[in-house]
Amino acid sequence: MTASNTATTRLPVLFVGHGSPMNALEDNAFTQSWRQIAAEIPRPRAILAVSAHWYLSDQRVTAQAWPRTIHDFYGFPQALFDVQYPAPGALELAAETARAFSPPLGLDHGTWSVLRVMYPAADIPVYQLSLDTRLSGPEHLKMSPQLQALREQGVLILGSGNIVHNLRLIQWGLAGGHDWAEAFQAQSQTLIRERQDQRLARFEELGTAAQLAIPSPDHFLPLLYVLGDSEADEPQHWFNTACVMGSLSMDSVLIG
Ligand code: ZN
Repeated sequence: MTASNTATTRLPVLFVGHGSPMNALEDNAFTQSWRQIAAEIPRPRAILAVSAHWYLSDQRVTAQAWPRTIHDFYGFPQALFDVQYPAPGALELAAETARAFSPPLGLDHGTWSVLRVMYPAADIPVYQLSLDTRLSGPEHLKMSPQLQALREQGVLILGSGNIVHNLRLIQWGLAGGHDWAEAFQAQSQTLIRERQDQRLARFEELGTAAQLAIPSPDHFLPLLYVLGDSEADEPQHWFNTACVMGSLSMDSVLIG
């Protein structure tokens, strides 16, 4: 049975800064925005997540009827390890999206920590596309338009990462961001608003602040999928534009 408000029109694309896995359990300003976004956009037929936490030297999609909830972290309270997100998989869509299927893995916390808040009932099929370490930024960006057709089919493309993400330089308890973090936050916001996608794809060339913000590409690359699957003239709705713990930005943007 299909819910009456399930999308039949083109869906927007969404990049979410996921931050700490504890957001899966916490009620804070960030998670309140996630809930609000879910209430505002049409209910997706399915969700294709591109998460920072599935970064490997292959292009794969999860193709399970019931992907398991992967607790891919350590040092967090037991309550977080107890979280299950029992959303169904999306076998048919997975077959359309990519040829290489994954061994039975599941959904990583970049995906479920956000979706547990956005869609707590876990009743929308979810599948993941890996971030292929062998591809350059421009290649990640160029690959995306193939996925754009999914938007017409009612699929929500969710990029989950963090535009500023440097765990080595985290300062627990610090409310805002280090100077370089806020500098790259501002620079990336401008480039995204101006749709300078090619410059963003060559993030290695964006200067010192960018190099500190992106010490490894995994948390930045999901943004390139959201840009690659949208048009420059589509409206942008920004939310959660804040740095936390010195070296993380929660910046999120809905496009379309
Ligand atoms: Zn993460």
